[in-house]
Amino acid sequence: MDYALNQVRFHELGEDRGEAELLNRAITEGLHDDSILSNVEHERQEIVSLVKKKARYWRFREDVLDAYGYACTACGTQLDLVEAAHIIPVAEPRSHDSIANGLALCVLHHTAYDKAIIAFNPEYQVLYSNSALEMLRRENLADRSEEFLDMLNKDMLLPDETACYPDKDYLERGMQIRNWQG
Ligand SMILES: [Zn+2]
Repeated sequence: MDYALNQVRFHELGEDRGEAELLNRAITEGLHDDSILSNVEHERQEIVSLVKKKARYWRFREDVLDAYGYACTACGTQLDLVEAAHIIPVAEPRSHDSIANGLALCVLHHTAYDKAIIAFNPEYQVLYSNSALEMLRRENLADRSEEFLDMLNKDMLLPDETACYPDKDYLERGMQIRNWQG
């Protein structure tokens, strides 16, 4: 977390000590308190808002990956290749960074989920799309699809704690938003 935030700070703010101090305060004291921003110039407020957004994402990422044991819910791979995916995507108005809206997915299956090649239904099953695969076959883009399908678990790998399970309505909505064809 500290590393990530420092990266954000260093990459976006150069060596301005005043800004660094402000960001430190935003991060350590004021993630949920905008009052410290009241005397700050507008553009500085935007920078701090961006850092707060990134800090929220990193917290979401840590919570989701920790809940899933750093393993992909679709295939069980760890190898430090696992990302925290939003079920209801960030661009959607009702998206949020709660663990119920998160899935741990390896980079391959994260992309496959967003392309609706695979999906996760409210019964916590891992699905693959015959129609998507058929379309890819027609475009000569389906090499190794059998191996790809063999990698998939039938049922999702879920967190130990049921409180951390993905929300069933979100899973349903996630399929609709991605135009799931089955
Ligand atoms: Zn995977």
